[in-house]
Amino acid sequence: MKINLNDNFRNLAQSYLFSEIGRRVREYQAANPDKSVVRLGIGDVTLPLPACVTAAMQTAAAELGDKKTFRGYPPEYGYDFLREAIRAHYASFGVSVAQEDIFVSDGAKSDCGNFTDVLGDNTVYMPDPVYPVYMDSNVMSGRTVVLLPSTPENGFLPMPDERCSTGVYYLCSPNNPTGAAYSAGQLKVWVDFAKASGSLILYDAAYEAFISDDSPRSIYAVEGANECAVEICSFSKTAGFTGTRCGYTVVPGTLMAGDVSLRALWARRQATKFNGVSYPVQRAAAAAYSPEGMAACMENIAYYKENARLIAALLDQKGIPYTGGKNSPYLWLACPGGMSSWDFFDYLLQSVQVVGTPGAGFGACGEGFFRLTSFGSREATAEAVRRLRGAL
Ligand code: PLP
Repeated sequence: MKINLNDNFRNLAQSYLFSEIGRRVREYQAANPDKSVVRLGIGDVTLPLPACVTAAMQTAAAELGDKKTFRGYPPEYGYDFLREAIRAHYASFGVSVAQEDIFVSDGAKSDCGNFTDVLGDNTVYMPDPVYPVYMDSNVMSGRTVVLLPSTPENGFLPMPDERCSTGVYYLCSPNNPTGAAYSAGQLKVWVDFAKASGSLILYDAAYEAFISDDSPRSIYAVEGANECAVEICSFSKTAGFTGTRCGYTVVPGTLMAGDVSLRALWARRQATKFNGVSYPVQRAAAAAYSPEGMAACMENIAYYKENARLIAALLDQKGIPYTGGKNSPYLWLACPGGMSSWDFFDYLLQSVQVVGTPGAGFGACGEGFFRLTSFGSREATAEAVRRLRGAL
């Protein structure tokens, strides 16, 4: 071929984190077939969907098989019944969002990556360590990225500092991978900074349902955020939709760059490149945000949080510093004895066959840290805790 390809792809760091974890675990298992490995590494849910969610999906699928109720293409921005359920979800924790500002999608990953389509040549800021999608989608589109270190000193919650000027800021709270969540006061500082500097905040709230203290569940809980922030959210971790696929992005009509409405651009982008989420999935998502569905989702989240509590209790007992667990399914711990994160990974795999995620895989500032997730079964988590007690 003689066509030119997107050269920016050459600038992507090798995405080897989960494949490298997989390779090391496979090699260990091949050499030690009698040992059982417990995995607390991947951020995928394990509990099944609530019954009212699968019932809604089945009813919707049956409607599609009946001439009288068949539907074709869904509206690009989501059915009104789901946009209304999302609006009501925000209202349930006291946040006012307009239905026409809500764009339903097939998940937060797509929206995080696709939003770069409507942005021009800006400096992009994001925390380090970071959810890799923010970084890679900006590298693919050739943008300059400035990393804001998330360290024990700032509680893994970077704030605007002297390096920050007008640009696009990715914030994720509760954070993947560190589990840390911004307080209302900290988010207010970010919103005030963004407004004063003319910046845009892209706020990822994928883990909002895990918040159990008074940290905001949405950036729109902060006054002025509707003049400077887009919020991306997902049914994946709230309702177990990692395989079902549904998310949403809120782009307030009040977000203007000069005389251009960001919402109008995002609407145009979605209408051009996206044909909507399937009807059964949107019905399932609306059922998840019904009172009955939300009660079932919160039961599942309570189950994961109990797993997190079991892991946290062990870390407390061993005096190992960590963040997360309380407002997040993730626990982010300092590798004991100053070990590197991959050495600690190997040590746990070899000594007690527990698999976690080395922090270095999320960015240079993740070196020396390790992520454990609470998304496993209770049995697997209890077994991992039992083994870790002997190894730490
Ligand atoms: N945002 C963050 C911070 C995540 O950790 C994840 C998934 O792990 C996503 C977005 C992706 O969510 P979705 O499954 O809706 O694509």
